[in-house]
Formats: sequence, C-alpha cells, structure tokens
Amino acid sequence: MSPRHASTILRPPASLGVIGGGQLGRMFLQAAQRMGYRAGVLGAIPEGPGSQVAHWSVVGPPDHLPALRSFLGQVDAVTVEFENVSAPALRWLERRVPVRPGWKTVWVSQNRLREKTFLARHGLPLAPWRPVRTEAELVRAVEDLGSPMILKTAASGYDGKGQVRVDDPSNAGAAWNQLGRVACVAEGWVTFASEVSVVVARGADGEAVTFPVALNRHERHILDSTVMPAPVGPIVSRDARDLALSVAQALGTVGVLTVEFFLTAEGRLLINELAPRPHNSGHLTIEGAVASQFEQQVRALCGLPLGGTDLVSPAAMVNLLGDLWKDGEPDWAGMMRRDPGVKLHLYGKKTAAPGRKMGHLTVLDPDRDTALARAIAAREALIRR
Ligand code: ATP
Ligand code: MG
Repeated sequence: MSPRHASTILRPPASLGVIGGGQLGRMFLQAAQRMGYRAGVLGAIPEGPGSQVAHWSVVGPPDHLPALRSFLGQVDAVTVEFENVSAPALRWLERRVPVRPGWKTVWVSQNRLREKTFLARHGLPLAPWRPVRTEAELVRAVEDLGSPMILKTAASGYDGKGQVRVDDPSNAGAAWNQLGRVACVAEGWVTFASEVSVVVARGADGEAVTFPVALNRHERHILDSTVMPAPVGPIVSRDARDLALSVAQALGTVGVLTVEFFLTAEGRLLINELAPRPHNSGHLTIEGAVASQFEQQVRALCGLPLGGTDLVSPAAMVNLLGDLWKDGEPDWAGMMRRDPGVKLHLYGKKTAAPGRKMGHLTVLDPDRDTALARAIAAREALIRR
C-alpha cells in the first residue's frame, strides 16, 4: 500500500472489492454490506458464491488487465479472498487504490518456499524443511529430514492438494514425479498433539488484534472441525497469539492474516503455514465473536478501528463437504428440528463434489466440548437414512 493511502478512512457507502469469488469472498461481501458498504467481486466465474450476493461483479481472471481495469472502475479499495493473485496485478491496483493486505503479504504467502524462507529469516519456529527444486536438493532433503516426510508444491496447493507423503526414502523420486517435478518444499513429518490457528487483524496504524486460538481437526488433509477457544492453556494461547502478531508485524500486513500451527506434545508451537486472509477456522467468529474475522477485514480495509475479538460464547464449527450430498439433498429441516441452536451456512455452490466445501455449521455453547458434540451430531442428522 502506498503511503498516500495510509490514513484514508473509507466510509459507507464506499465501494469495496474482493478478488476471488468463493465462500470467503461471499462472507466478506456480506459483512461489508451489513455495514452499509457497496461491495463487489472480481471472480473467475459468473454466479459463484461471491457474485451471487455481490452488489456488482466483474467476471475474469484476477491477473487479466481488462478485467482489472473494469474492477478498478468500480472500487474504492480492494482486498483478496485467496493468495493466488499475481503480485504484479496487486501492485498495479495498489498504485491506484488501497489494497489490503498488500502485495507483499500475498506474494510471500502464495509460495511455500518464500513463506518458509521469510519466517525462518525472522526466527519464527517452523517444522524442519528443505527446498526441493533439483534432484540434488531432493536427495539432500531425504537425507536431512528422514521419513516420513511430506513433499508439498511451493505454489497453489490447498486442502492437501499438491502434497505427497513419502514413507520410504526410495519413493521420494516417484513422489516428486507425481507432483510434476515442480518446485517444492519437503517437510519433516510432525507428530503433533494438535493443530491450532490464530486469526490476526492489523490496521494501517499498526494496531493489531488476535482472536482466541482455534483448535482444528483435519480429515483427509481438509479442515473438518474447529473449536474456539482451543483447550491449550494460557501459556500456549499467549505464545500462539504473540507469534501470530509477530508474523503480521514482520510482513507489515494490513488486513487479516491467519497463522496455522502444529502443537507438539511438549507444548511447542511450529508454524505450518500462513493465509493472508480470513480462514476456515475463523468462520465461527461470525456468531461467536464480538466482531467476525470478515468484519475485521472490512474495518482494516477501510482504515477503521478494529473490532472486539472476544468471544460471546465458546463455539464450534464443522464443515459440510460435498460428500454429504452423495445420497441427495441433506435433511436441513430434520437437523434444525433436532437442535434449533445450530446455525447453517451454505455457500451457494451448484455442484457438490466430494471434498468440496459447500457450507458449515456453527454452534455456540457455554461448554466448548458440548458445542463440538452438538455440531457433529447436527451434521450426522443431515444424512438421510
Ligand atoms: P489448507 O490450505 O486447507 O490449510 P494446504 O493444502 O495448504 O491446506 P497444509 O496446511 O500444508 O495444506 O496441510 C494440510 C494438513 O496436512 C495439515 O493441516 C496437517 O493436518 C497435515 N500436514 C501437513 N504437513 C504436515 C507435516 N509436516 N506433518 C504432519 N502433518 C502435516
Ligand atoms: Mg493448511
């Protein structure tokens, strides 16, 4: 972001644009609209989750100049819902309007090699890793990390895509072939006790806030459930929130940033990866926190003071993947009848492929374990028998 935008406050009904038309963009748009902004989207497809709810939308790839020009014609400020936006496109926009987070945060977090190099340079704790760009580096990684290790493509992975676990060193070459021998990072396998994440919001003035730590459980490398606050104790909680603040500070992020961690049995936090945006593990802040992660994204984008991150109640979230549609439309009414306290979020996706994130459920409960149990039971109740 150029300094001339630093102190701008954008008041409603200014027009806010998000690059990316998926569910994260959709929830950003909804938060912006609730606060009186005009809000629109630059998305690759018409009628995606974002454009369905947008005041305006531009269809086109995010690094396509004609699409960017027409997007620019509509916006007073720009944010992103995903990290795979080209840095030149963001820089081009940044010369004209506030873009938050700025290109640097996005550029670092869109590539695992850059991300890990950056974090290591700032002395932040990481799982052991090695770059893999050549055969020689692959051999070196296998020697240094042992097995199991995990090979991840440096660019454009999500929900466990672009990752192969290597259990036997002699399979490392085959694993890399499977990934197309593109630039990768190799990571030592972490036998974590749990996975946690922290969503941080940082304003243009450098003020930053964190949400309570989220406890995340993955299935098939895809987030399955989140509970907040995580049952990790005050010291780990403080450490995780401080580390997330350090990352945002080091990157100079203005906007929302999420830090995913592995937590080892000895209570060590290792950073797994960054997302320069709201995160699936923060969806429960919509009902669970004073201001949601999406509201923080709006506030940071507009130069407004950040909102409260305290929880109004412990909360749990479970994802609804396309698999739930296997035998037809899930039983929404049956689920709601069973537990009237469950909040349903659907993203408006037309086709329910296995592993595709279609929506989520949130439950608030004074007891976080009960919140999670109720959310899981509600999801079970969606399956027709
Ligand atoms: P997303 O964008 O959905 O967070 P991703 O594709 O970027 O996912 P990662 O976060 O790197 O992938 O990995 C997904 C999950 O796979 C992790 O949350 C963790 O459960 C498991 N995993 C990844 N790396 C390791 C590792 N080094 N050791 C053990 N488990 C791992
Ligand atoms: Mg991840």
